[in-house]
Amino acid sequence: MDIYKHPTFDMACEQFDLVADHLQMPQEHRERVKFPKRSLTVAVPVRMDSGEVKVFSGYRVQHHLSLGPTKGGLRFHPDVTLGEVAALAMWMSWKCALTGLPYGGAKGGVACDPRKLSIGELERVTRRFTQEIIPFIGPQIDIPAPDVGSNEQMMAWIMDSYSIHAGHSVPGVVTGKPVNLGGSLGRREATGRGVGFLVGRAMDVLGLRADQCTAVVQGYGNVGSIAALSMAKHGVKIIAVSDVDGGLYNADGIDLNALNDHVAARKTVAGFAGAEPISNTDLLELKCDVLAPCALERQITAANAAKLQCRILAEGANGPTTPDGDVIIDQRGDIFLIPDILCNSGGVVVSYFEWVQDLQSFFWSEAEVVDKLFRILEQAFTATWNLSKNEKLSMRMAALTLGIKRVWEAKKQRGLFP
Ligand code: GLU
Repeated sequence: MDIYKHPTFDMACEQFDLVADHLQMPQEHRERVKFPKRSLTVAVPVRMDSGEVKVFSGYRVQHHLSLGPTKGGLRFHPDVTLGEVAALAMWMSWKCALTGLPYGGAKGGVACDPRKLSIGELERVTRRFTQEIIPFIGPQIDIPAPDVGSNEQMMAWIMDSYSIHAGHSVPGVVTGKPVNLGGSLGRREATGRGVGFLVGRAMDVLGLRADQCTAVVQGYGNVGSIAALSMAKHGVKIIAVSDVDGGLYNADGIDLNALNDHVAARKTVAGFAGAEPISNTDLLELKCDVLAPCALERQITAANAAKLQCRILAEGANGPTTPDGDVIIDQRGDIFLIPDILCNSGGVVVSYFEWVQDLQSFFWSEAEVVDKLFRILEQAFTATWNLSKNEKLSMRMAALTLGIKRVWEAKKQRGLFP
């Protein structure tokens, strides 16, 4: 599958192969379970404010169709490629299966820098991309959602573009929409809130008290900022945070309310007066109880895994640790890993609730959403932790094993057509 050639795709394949070996999956099933079922690349021509026409590359990969429609976010970032999106789609499959959602995984994106686009340009890119992928998406086919570089407003444009094509409102075509348009209460906070909940469960296992713990959060977007807030609510001291423009460190703890005011005004954590600047490398190696990488892939590698000084590694991002980084973390044995497909699954779980509410046109209170979210996360955490203990597997291997096994079972049960 050379079309997916990318270090992140190689990484997802390496993880899969380890699990397939562990499960003694017959060779003839492996490629069927591993490789994406469908992928689409589109050219997205857009008139820029300057009057010139620019053509962006857009992608959507649907990893497997064996358990229902496919589900996953849309990434708007300059480095987006088909291979990266394919890896992220594969992880969505294992994530949805681990949490028991009736979905296969998907992911998509547009290679662009949304920070450099005007609001009008961003709307035209989003709507034209939606137009190009219309035959490929739908409430029973594939349901996009936010990811890095996309937000509620963009989901509203997707819903609107699709609905205009259908001739009536179709809220269930996308999740992460504004609540006013059929979005779910608690969706915006869901991923970060889930990270906070699972960190709490890891602390229970390790016998740590939240009010005596410190945390470092890499990435201060929708996931990292809410993860920091939910940990702080339980008394955890947030000593460092970062975003693409830089990092901040304050050993006495960062005042998150003041920081959030700064971010609202400046759109970046950089320049915040209540902390010292710190580099990304130093930030990851700070002594802390919880390290939460909530940005992009491949941040913890063979080059820095031995230098980490955390007790809990909470992967809010997708794929922040490479397989060679994993080997070192396993050998060390002193870090409790909450793997990405478990740690950041709160987002897609509440996306599932949003989709169910849209299909039924019957909406739930935020308390119901949060209660149901925590029940699913508790079950997924316990299943992963039990498998890890019983079969002496790392938490990553345990979570992936549960996810991959369910997809494999579904393929066996449905059989090979014709
Ligand atoms: N982009 C998020 C993820 O990686 C959410 C996907 C969704 O809600 O469908 O899990």
